[in-house]
Amino acid sequence: MRSRFAPSPTGPLHLGHAYSALLASDMTRAAGGTFLLRIDDLDQSRARPEWEVQLKDDLHWLGLDWPEPCRRESEHLGEYEAALDRLWQMGLLYPCTCTRRDIREALSAPQEGAPLTGPDGLIYPGTCRPDTPPTGPRPQDVTLRLDMARACAKLTAPLTFAETGAGPDGQSGTISASNDEMIRDIGDVVVARRDMGASYHLAVVVDDAAQAITHVIRGRDLFDATRIHALLQRLLDLPTPVYHHHRLIRDEHGKRLAKRDDARAIALYRSEGKSPQQIRAMVGL
Ligand code: GLU
Repeated sequence: MRSRFAPSPTGPLHLGHAYSALLASDMTRAAGGTFLLRIDDLDQSRARPEWEVQLKDDLHWLGLDWPEPCRRESEHLGEYEAALDRLWQMGLLYPCTCTRRDIREALSAPQEGAPLTGPDGLIYPGTCRPDTPPTGPRPQDVTLRLDMARACAKLTAPLTFAETGAGPDGQSGTISASNDEMIRDIGDVVVARRDMGASYHLAVVVDDAAQAITHVIRGRDLFDATRIHALLQRLLDLPTPVYHHHRLIRDEHGKRLAKRDDARAIALYRSEGKSPQQIRAMVGL
């Protein structure tokens, strides 16, 4: 078993992160496996070296350990480019120039009953989608979307993944998604961003495969996005790990903790004299 905790160094580590990291490490240790730390610093406009230093310090303080050097996304941009090239050559990507506002306006008269948002935000109305796949070299510094219908048409077997935790509605076991659901509920997701290169969905799939991750243990908020990851794994001939989506740590109002929720920062609890055992108890471990 190989698992990972993959924080983005864009803010303080809070209770929600601590729970996710501790759970992944506990489960992996119990199985005699290897727990890895990965720094998801793809978004260089928000990632800060200070946050990376702080989060490693907090994780060590919590009693976690991992082999060093750990993978940092910003050092592997060529691997994401190669994956994008491959999808481009398969005719599955197209450039998109829509702003968020363009998309909202195009969606302002939605088809009755069609959901407006999916795991990747607003479901793209297809404004820039070409009738035939673009040819020639892959354009750089543009937003690229995955043509979901074309991508699903490449599948030779139904899309599935194994869930050992649970999704938001208690989904567990073998999770499957039909092509129609992928097109209707997810749509043409962004796989490359103008300012960032690869998108999270593309990078996470490449990273997990490069690190030979067998078990992805992460928050339930990412359950719906997992179908996107399973699809990209199929398209890129990468293995699909086992997924374990865990409950989310909420504040006293029942709201999910956000990155900027500094009130629950581990560093703050540390400065107040709390122990790692007390943090474990606070998150129910
Ligand atoms: N950096 C991502 C996050 O913090 C990782 C998500 C994942 O585990 O796939 O949400």
